[in-house]
Amino acid sequence: MTRTEKTIAIIGGGIAGLSAAQVLQKEMEERKEAITFLLVEKENRLGGNILTERHDDFIIEGGPDCFLSEKPETITLCHKLGIQDHLMKTNEHVRGIFILSKGTLQELPEGFMLLAPTNFSSFIKNPLISPLGKLRMAMDLIIPGIKSAEEESLAQFVTRRLGKEVLEKIAEPLVAGIHAGEPETMSLKSTFPRLIELEKSYRSLIIGMIKRKKMFKGKKSTNNYTMFMSLREGLATLPDTVAASLNPKRFLTGNPVISVEKLSDASGYLLTLAKGELLKVMSVVFATPAFVTSDLFKGIDPVLSSELLSLPYVSTATISLAYERKEVSYPMNGFGFVIPRIENRKIMACTWTSKKFAHRAPHDKLLIRCFVGGIKNEHLTRLNESALIAISREELRDIMGIHAEPLFAKVFRWEKSMPQYMVGHEAKIKRIEERLSLNPGLFLAGSAYYGIGISDCIKSGEKAALAALKFLPR
Ligand SMILES: Cc1cc2nc3c(=O)[nH]c(=O)nc-3n(C[C@H](O)[C@H](O)[C@H](O)COP(=O)(O)OP(=O)(O)OC[C@H]3O[C@@H](n4cnc5c(N)ncnc54)[C@H](O)[C@@H]3O)c2cc1C
Repeated sequence: MTRTEKTIAIIGGGIAGLSAAQVLQKEMEERKEAITFLLVEKENRLGGNILTERHDDFIIEGGPDCFLSEKPETITLCHKLGIQDHLMKTNEHVRGIFILSKGTLQELPEGFMLLAPTNFSSFIKNPLISPLGKLRMAMDLIIPGIKSAEEESLAQFVTRRLGKEVLEKIAEPLVAGIHAGEPETMSLKSTFPRLIELEKSYRSLIIGMIKRKKMFKGKKSTNNYTMFMSLREGLATLPDTVAASLNPKRFLTGNPVISVEKLSDASGYLLTLAKGELLKVMSVVFATPAFVTSDLFKGIDPVLSSELLSLPYVSTATISLAYERKEVSYPMNGFGFVIPRIENRKIMACTWTSKKFAHRAPHDKLLIRCFVGGIKNEHLTRLNESALIAISREELRDIMGIHAEPLFAKVFRWEKSMPQYMVGHEAKIKRIEERLSLNPGLFLAGSAYYGIGISDCIKSGEKAALAALKFLPR
């Protein structure tokens, strides 16, 4: 058993835990503080959901393939790590996203990323929404803003402002593509707070979007980023570089934490690791999925443990398929497509990977990635690999007319990997925070609480590390 007066344990080596470790390592080096930390990870590799594999000259993302540039944390971390020259834009010649509608792919009109149209001529011409649906959308211009303080789901909000057709054909598939969830249960406040702001500021979403667009028009972009960004050699460069920057004594892999107990003299916590080690620490950052954290809290605070357990997760799988370029005639003028559930398909989205990013496949080959699972079709993620590949091929044949045999296929299964921010999420997180404050020295980080994007997770890991540092006696 080791005993260090000022030790912080970080449980979980996904991007949240690694970001916490990065902050602590920097503090140790810069301030020469007499603190130590140890990151403990269950798997033999670090990175959690961020996983890149190489296959010949293909770069294949198993989990996330990009991050939003408007949230600064990922880009800032790349600069801190000295890998800013790895930052890679999306292909600027194709931007569109397509939506499957009655079996064919229709381009999402410009400006629709936030659900309301900003370019009327392209919207009016676009066949995705029926004439009646377009009329209903236009009612957004006259519908008053909401007065009630009751929390709305994304579905309630979109139906109220823009109508059911926009919900079914646009909002639902876009949201399923990001959160793998369904808009009926999803908290608007916790997932798309900007829509609430738009309604508050401008009453109408359409007016709000147009005014915002005008505000930014003419302002030269001050940065060199596209909306979505990646890293040249794949996103795993990020966790790999953090790991390489850590002193190897500061992390343990392949060794899950199986319990955390309060020390009887209240001087800290005792961690038991699966391989038998015991670790006495003063503070713990839990950067594990909420259901794992719940388990580890059982002996410390059963009330907090059950609140954490009530944060739901869904499973997904990604299936990447490689083809000879000459064998695929579909034009692929965009980043890929999403599929409304009313289309009753087995895949929920598809990324045209080698179109979205350069260097993902050799020039005479193509890489395409299908998503399966999510709240609607979670059972499909439990199928074996060949069944998942067969489903993907069937759907690509139907939708894009791809009959060719793939050169190879790679399946990545993500069991209970996508936290769902349901209506009431914010109130639940407040209760969790209040309860956590009764347990001095314990902190939470990761995708379950304040945002599921990579930048959100980095921010939560850094914040938890700073809070743990502040907790230690000086
Ligand atoms: C398929 C998929 C696609 C995604 N696409 C995007 C995208 O394009 N852009 C984006 O911004 N986000 C995306 N996300 C979300 C984003 O990847 C995640 O929210 C983020 O990586 C989560 O990081 P984390 O550190 O919170 O958790 P995780 O990555 O889940 O890390 C938690 C770690 O804890 C470890 N652990 C578990 N139990 C124990 C234990 N008992 N002891 C020790 N360690 C333990 C796990 O092994 C894991 O390494 C995607 C997610 C998935 C699954």
